[in-house]
Amino acid sequence: MSNLNIIQDFIPVGRRNRPGRANPMLFITIHETGNTSRGSGARNHANYLKGNTAANLPVSWHYTTDDSVTYQHLPENEDGFHAADGGGNGNRQSIGIEMCVNTDGNFQRAIDRTAELTADICRRRNIPIENIRQHQQWSGKNCPQNIRAGRPHTWAVFIDKVRAHLGQAPATTNPPTPATTPQTAHTTPAAFNVGDIVQFTGGAVYVSSRAANPAHSRGRSSCRVTYITNGAPQPFHLVSTDGGGVHGWVAAGDVAAIGQAPATFKEYTARVQGGTTYRTGAGANFAAAGTIPAGGGVYTIVEEKNGFGRLKSGAGWLPLGAVTKI
Ligand SMILES: [Zn+2]
Repeated sequence: MSNLNIIQDFIPVGRRNRPGRANPMLFITIHETGNTSRGSGARNHANYLKGNTAANLPVSWHYTTDDSVTYQHLPENEDGFHAADGGGNGNRQSIGIEMCVNTDGNFQRAIDRTAELTADICRRRNIPIENIRQHQQWSGKNCPQNIRAGRPHTWAVFIDKVRAHLGQAPATTNPPTPATTPQTAHTTPAAFNVGDIVQFTGGAVYVSSRAANPAHSRGRSSCRVTYITNGAPQPFHLVSTDGGGVHGWVAAGDVAAIGQAPATFKEYTARVQGGTTYRTGAGANFAAAGTIPAGGGVYTIVEEKNGFGRLKSGAGWLPLGAVTKI
């Protein structure tokens, strides 16, 4: 059934292009290698990434797909250097896939294999279709170059191929939900907007707004609304803001308003003491995610909760006692 055919050939631990920081895996970034030389398939790129040129740049990504095989160069839960956005969300929060464009390969087959791999990652990591990005969206580079030019087909067609692997209808022909039953109050998703902080009251989390079966279930959690698909069975895409592990589509009946409107919070920059431990959630009981380097630094806080401030990079939560607004 599956044609993923993945060979793990990791860049060795400790190399400059394997920084080893935790990747929250919120996005997938699609690239083309731009390397049309004969023989420049996935295996050649695996060897390149293990060599000194790639280490010194540094450059790295998670997968290379060609027309018959896929090489994996980094564990998905580690970050890489492929989006050219420095410490931005492309490098730090996405899984990077390079498609081979070698002239002695079959590019269409490489694209189709990439779509299947992308769908597999979406399913396993609960990444919504909307978070599949082009390299161009992070740094402006014209990549993936051929797809962006509609060769052999457009980005929208690629995304529909991913949808097909996930059992979803193509976006262009997505039928409206038939109005066979009257709308009841709890299925009317008009109460919230993208960006609102809401209470997920606990229950099933789905990989798409129209998926028939839940991916898993999660407990009560404070969440941000990141997408809304009106009329879908699971109209809200939520991401936990309290480390509760919600990241997916949920039914309207499992979403409730919370008392205040934290959307009015303004992000700010702050000096943070060196040696401060930041955590995976807003509380001292959450696991340590890392430590601010000696000497401290200046960081951006985008949310406050329970005496902790969330780092804009997505790296974790800092105790506000170690934070001085500037
Ligand atoms: Zn690229």
